[in-house]
Formats: sequence, C-alpha cells, structure tokens
Amino acid sequence: MYGNGGGQMEFSRRGVMLVIASPSGAGKSSITRTLLAEQDNLTMSVSVTTRPMRDGEVDGKDYHFVSIEKFKAMRDAGELLEWARVHSNYYGTPVADVDQRIENGHDVVFDIDYQGTQQLYEKRREHLVSVFLLPPSIPELRARLKGRALDSDEVIARRLQNARTEMEHWAEYDYVLVNDDLAETTRKVTGILAAARIARTRQKDLSVFVKALQEQIDEL
Ligand code: 5GP
Repeated sequence: MYGNGGGQMEFSRRGVMLVIASPSGAGKSSITRTLLAEQDNLTMSVSVTTRPMRDGEVDGKDYHFVSIEKFKAMRDAGELLEWARVHSNYYGTPVADVDQRIENGHDVVFDIDYQGTQQLYEKRREHLVSVFLLPPSIPELRARLKGRALDSDEVIARRLQNARTEMEHWAEYDYVLVNDDLAETTRKVTGILAAARIARTRQKDLSVFVKALQEQIDEL
C-alpha cells in the first residue's frame, strides 16, 4: 500500500497527464526536454500523425507516422484518446498506452494543441494538469524565432499569426506562465508537476489508510 523507505510515507498513486502548450518559440520544447531529462518516471506521449516525416525525426520516437487510411481506422476504432487536424495533417494520441502508464503511476507529458487539450478535459479531467507558456513580448518571440535561423521571413510571419490564434486559448489552461527566464519557468513547471503528483485525487490507498488509523483509535 505505501512505502516508508527512509522517511516520508508514500502511497501508490495514479500518474499525472501533463500538457505543456505554447506558441512556437515560447519555450515549450526546451522545458519539456529538461523535464524529461531530470524527472524520473516521466515520459512523452508519442502521437500518431499523417504528416510526412521531417529530417532527423525517428518513427516511433517523435511520432508514429501513419497513412490517412490507418489514422482514420484507428480513430473510428476508438483507439485515439483525442485527435485533431492541424495545418491539414491529422494528429492523435493512442489511448491504450497512455491509460496504462497513468494507471501504473507513471507520469506522461503531452505536446498537443488546444483542440486535443479540450478533449482530454472532457475525457480524463481527473488526471490532467495543463500549462500554457506565453512569451514575454512579441519582439522577444520574433527574436527567438529568428534565432533558430531555420525559417524564412515568410515562415516566421506565418508562425506569428499561428501564435496569435494559439494565444486565444490561454484561459483554457490550469496554469499560464510568462516565460521570461527559461530556468525559472522550468522550476515552476517542475513545481506544478510535484504538486500534481501528491494531489489527493491521485493517491490510491488514502481511504484504506485513514480507515486503518480510525480502527487503531477504536482499539485503544
Ligand atoms: P508538428 O507537425 O510541428 O510536430 O506539430 C504541429 C502541431 O500539432 C503542434 O502544435 C503540436 O502540439 C500538435 N500536435 C502534435 N501531436 C498532437 C496530437 O496527438 N494531438 C493534437 N491534438 N495535437 C498534436
């Protein structure tokens, strides 16, 4: 039921579903990467997508790359916890793997858009914690997008327009952080995850434990 290894008692628990969202360039990837490296027991949800694989991406690691037919078959068979069409490609979260990890007490981080987050709220509210990151300013966001030196001015202009749309959904998230200091924002997200891990609703054996305490009083 619980461990008492070297100090604080720990109950077995359900995992946390952690959504981290932000406009492109506001720090989502860096923060997610640090969390995955530093946190035991935290893994990424690997989505299925119909978009073509980019250079450097690995099938099964970045995404499961599938055909449109396969995607629709999975969706229609109820194998996706959520799905959305983003920029004319389909994306979705395979349900079985995520549910199993959560039930076994493993935490899962999601890189999904607001449409997917809304569906997770409908279907898995009790497991979900969501964080939305904002850039400190638009000149700063532009500088970060330009700093990547990957994209043409036209692509950057399009990303800024997309950022505008994504920011419309800020109020649908549990936490909204302005990322003006990457290390500090990472610390805050780490704290959010730490608190979510010990939330009452995730502890599996609390009621049994409390009953046992009461019985000990009764037996005095
Ligand atoms: P990209 O094609 O650049 O990897 O991702 C494009 C967008 O799709 C990003 O905003 C990303 O968060 C979103 N996305 C990736 N996987 C999923 C998914 O499984 N579900 C949903 N709803 N969005 C996703």
